[in-house]
Amino acid sequence: MPVIYRDEAIVLRAQKLGEADRIVTLLTREHGQVRAVAKGVRKTMSRFGARLEPFMLIDVQLYEGRSLDTVTQVETIGPYGLAIVADYARYTAATAMLETAERLTETEREPALQQFLLLAGGLRTLAQNLHEPGLVLDAYLIRSLAVAGWAPSFTDCARCGQTGPHRAFSLAMGGAVCPSCRPPGSAAPHPETLQLLSALLTGDWTSADASEARRRREASGLVAAYLQWHVERRVRSLRWVEREGDQLGPDLPRGRSEAGARSVAGARNETGARNETGARNEARAGSEARAGSEARQRSEAGARKPGLDVAAIERAQAAVAPADPPGW
Ligand SMILES: [Zn+2]
Repeated sequence: MPVIYRDEAIVLRAQKLGEADRIVTLLTREHGQVRAVAKGVRKTMSRFGARLEPFMLIDVQLYEGRSLDTVTQVETIGPYGLAIVADYARYTAATAMLETAERLTETEREPALQQFLLLAGGLRTLAQNLHEPGLVLDAYLIRSLAVAGWAPSFTDCARCGQTGPHRAFSLAMGGAVCPSCRPPGSAAPHPETLQLLSALLTGDWTSADASEARRRREASGLVAAYLQWHVERRVRSLRWVEREGDQLGPDLPRGRSEAGARSVAGARNETGARNETGARNEARAGSEARAGSEARQRSEAGARKPGLDVAAIERAQAAVAPADPPGW
C-alpha cells in the first residue's frame, strides 16, 4: 500500500536525472531530510520545475518509495529563490547555508524541525534583504551549529562558566575562556568581535547591524574555524588559516601541512570528549548507519551527495564580506 504524505520543505539541492527528471534533496519540517524524484520537471511547461529549485520554500506531496520518494504535487510557499539568485552576495551566502543544512541534517528522515525553521528564517531574511548577507550567513552558521549541539560561548567561560566577557577564545574549549581555563596559545579576538558573534547567536540585530566591517571579517574567520572544527571529519582544506592565522593566533590549526593536520586531530581527540555533546556521537553513529543506504541510493539513482565544502563556505564568506555598512 503506497504511502502518500504532505510536508513543508526547503529545496536544498536539485540534480538532473535522465532526460527529463530531477532528484531533489529537501529539508522538510516534519520528516527531516528527504530525497525524492521529480518526474518530467525538466520538460518545458512543467508545473513543478520552477518550484523545485534551490532556496524555494514549498508545500510538497510525496509518494513514499523504497529509497527515493516521488514528488506528486508542489505549491510555492516562499519563492525565496527568485530574490536570492538575483543578487550575487545573497546567492553565495544562501548556497553556503544550504550546504551546511544538508550536512547537519544528513541522517535522512530524522526530524530536524529546529534546523528547518532556522534555514527557512535565514533564507527569508536574505530574500527580503533585511541584513547584510555576510551577517545573515554567519548568524545562520553559528545558530545551526548550536542547534546541532555545538553551541559556542562568546561571553562566559566555555569551560567553567565563569561570567565573562573574557579575552581569550579557544576552538577546542568551545569559545571564550577565562584566564584560568585558557589553553596556551588561545586566540585573542577583539572584544567587539566577540560581542558581534554573541549578537549573531542571540539575534540582536540592532547591535550586529551596527558592527564595523573589520569586526565582521574577524567574526567570519572565527565562524569558519568553528564550523571546520566541528563539522569537517577530515582536515581537507585549511585555506582560511592562511588568511586569518595571524589575527587568530596559534590556537588555530595552521596551513595545510601534515603536521598541522596531525596537531588538529590530536587536539580534537584530547578535548573532544568533554566539549562535544552527544549530538556529535549521534551524528557519527548516524553517518555510519547512513553509509549503507547512501551507497544504495547512489548506485540506484546515479546521484552524488557531496560532503560539506568548508573551503567553499569560506569563499562565500569572503565573497559577501561587507564593503559598506547596511543601508538601514
Ligand atoms: Zn574558565
